[in-house]
Amino acid sequence: MINYLRRTKIVVTLGPSLDNPDMLERVILAGAVVFRANFSHGDVSMHEARINLVRDIAARHEKTVAILIDLQGPKIRIGRFKNKKILLREGQHFILDTLLDETAGDEQAVSLGYENLPRDVYKNDTLLLDDGRIVFKVLNTEPTKIFCEVVVGGELSNNKGINRLGGGLSAAALTDKDRADIKEAVRLNADYIAVSFPRHADDIKEARALLQAAGGNPGIIAKIERAEAITNLDGIIETSDAVMIARGDLGVEIGDAELPAMQKKIIKIARLLNKPVITATQMLETMIQNTIPTRAEVSDVANAVLDGTDAVMLSGETAVGLYPDKAVAAMDRICLSAEKHRHTQSVRYTRDQRLKYVDEAIAMATMYVANHLDIKAIIALTESGTTPLLMSRVNSSIPVYGLSRHDATLRRMTLYRGVYPIPFDATPIDRRILNQASISELKTRKILKSGDIVIITKGDLIGVHGRTNSLKIVTVDN
Ligand code: PGA
Ligand code: MN
Repeated sequence: MINYLRRTKIVVTLGPSLDNPDMLERVILAGAVVFRANFSHGDVSMHEARINLVRDIAARHEKTVAILIDLQGPKIRIGRFKNKKILLREGQHFILDTLLDETAGDEQAVSLGYENLPRDVYKNDTLLLDDGRIVFKVLNTEPTKIFCEVVVGGELSNNKGINRLGGGLSAAALTDKDRADIKEAVRLNADYIAVSFPRHADDIKEARALLQAAGGNPGIIAKIERAEAITNLDGIIETSDAVMIARGDLGVEIGDAELPAMQKKIIKIARLLNKPVITATQMLETMIQNTIPTRAEVSDVANAVLDGTDAVMLSGETAVGLYPDKAVAAMDRICLSAEKHRHTQSVRYTRDQRLKYVDEAIAMATMYVANHLDIKAIIALTESGTTPLLMSRVNSSIPVYGLSRHDATLRRMTLYRGVYPIPFDATPIDRRILNQASISELKTRKILKSGDIVIITKGDLIGVHGRTNSLKIVTVDN
């Protein structure tokens, strides 16, 4: 009766292409559940209008969606050129100058937004501009200037980003703009905020302190996009609520050839540490202009699914692309196909594994039973969403329905692989009929029918966080 549900979640980036309400509606109906407002561009009022539009359309279709506010972070950029762009030839000399006027760039020099860069780089360093399209070698530095030789030339236009191969730049993860944007994110009731370019766990802790001071509690996503983050991976992931493999900047800092293996490693660690993970950037890049993806892009999305990612993300494809709806539809079908094949991830429960918490024990036991009995669905009555998150760390093809009375919990769960949020308030229901009531909710939604076997997890104290302590196997009756 019901079709197989896609387990991998789709994150899309808002932008001019989704400002058209019809297109945005098609993207929501095609299955996007997390909407990223990229605070590297535009002002807060623009983002607010976009977020409101997403919430309006989703509400009209009774869809649970999450808003992710992505902080700009210390992305280092060049200034602007008098003629918008220049052409750089291999072997020519070029100067990055922190004192030059922001708009005065020419064939010889351009301004630099980050005044510490001349102190952070050394002779023979490699600088990568525009995601690595342009390559400079550092010849020497002065306190306000970096003298470079062009190793790979080409067109260089206004405000392009700069990375140093190997990382090591001193810039702190949270800029003054980010601090102000954190307050806006709380005001806009974001479900997730993404911290760009964190170096270590302290950057995440700082963001959390700022969020708390602003009175908000969105999930913090650590964007892994700096070489230093790789050396501090466990600490960063442990202190965050979720992880993004930000392959754009990461690929520039560690080298593109290192990315595929690194992606697998990050996904594995994130899952082991019970955190959801988003695989991002250039997944269907050619669909910015084309109606179909390349075979390589199809493989990339499928491989992220096989690696065990929770979500795949679209950036330019939906923000500025011509076919956002087709890009989401392509992801939908690629994920669905890839999920049909068993992946190579090892099973979580091992004989000598020790569990720390009762809810974790229930989640693991549930998945063990579900994967070894003919279970149709798992129903998790949840306050914080923790039990469904723990369940979703185990490979399975069985859907986990997270039933909660809290909208924030429902929205948070949109990111978790194989977890489907359903609004349900257990608190006024008599304990003796609670199992039946939750099953009825899923029968009404045509998810269950009589004869199906389900597992229900819940706590003794309905309405209390972190208390899931029971697992019940129930056959759905008429
Ligand atoms: P960005 O982050 O799109 O904000 O740069 C993603 C990435 O670097 O891949
Ligand atoms: Mn980035």
